[in-house]
Amino acid sequence: MPGPVFSLAMDHRAGLRRVAETLGLPRLQAGWVWLAGAGPGDPGLASLHTLHAIADADVILIDALVSRKLLELRRSDAQIVDAGKRGGKPSRSQAVISRQLIAFARKGLRVLRLKGGDPFVFGRGGEEALALVKAGIPFRIVPGITAGIGGIAYAGIPATHRDTNQAVTFITGSGSGGLAPDLDWAAIAKGSPSIVLYMARKHAGEIAANLLAAGRDANEPAAVISNASLKEQTTMVTRLGLLGEAAALADTPAIIVIGENVRLATGLDWLGALSGRLLDPDPLGRDRLRDVS
Ligand code: SAH
Repeated sequence: MPGPVFSLAMDHRAGLRRVAETLGLPRLQAGWVWLAGAGPGDPGLASLHTLHAIADADVILIDALVSRKLLELRRSDAQIVDAGKRGGKPSRSQAVISRQLIAFARKGLRVLRLKGGDPFVFGRGGEEALALVKAGIPFRIVPGITAGIGGIAYAGIPATHRDTNQAVTFITGSGSGGLAPDLDWAAIAKGSPSIVLYMARKHAGEIAANLLAAGRDANEPAAVISNASLKEQTTMVTRLGLLGEAAALADTPAIIVIGENVRLATGLDWLGALSGRLLDPDPLGRDRLRDVS
């Protein structure tokens, strides 16, 4: 029997549809697959395209890191498929997920593949989309806010900042076979003022050692942000020399930032400020230096 919760969801969907129509946004069509990002956790970071698709979809294949709260916008008859993958736990293989997407689309369903963050940033969205191309299934990519930009912003760390880093490098901490990635660490150490590591909790110590061996400073600031943008968010600020130990203590999911931009958190931790943290307007100490000279 449709109760108050049901009719509220109907309202939400009708409201979303009106907003989408006003803005001239496309609708998820029968036989199509949308590969959409849901952002790092806070449901408010999902895009309008993503919300609209949740409201319209017949079937939603959802990853482990996507906020379940978003599913409250779904149709009551929508099918939810848990396609979650989390390091170490049993998961559906990528091939199975791709086959499911194709089979659902061929049935003429409106298929939404909902992924954490951005589907094209360490999200295997490219692989799934290529399987759709091969099968001749029409699809749309809905980019999302990636943990390595939006997640760290929730800890008050800008991905780039003119005074600290004019470049940033995104790296997966989990290479093939579950090993640390096989990269040119000397080139990264030299050419990447700031480094953002995804899926790196396990190999953070080894990665830090590689960077130190290639000449990075053990005192360089680093931060480990767990559950970014969720109410359980925690930030550990440490230094490169101690990164392995800090990461081992962190909850997952965790995103790691190495570089001088981490220092900005003492000035820009807007979330901390909401619970009383005093923000330093001069986190890099530039004005203080100028005052002395
Ligand atoms: N496509 C996703 C990344 C998937 S890989 C994106 O664009 O964000 C999964 C990794 O993302 C995790 O191991 C972690 O490093 C990072 N991550 C995702 N959500 C996170 C969150 N809320 N807090 C911290 N790290 C997160």
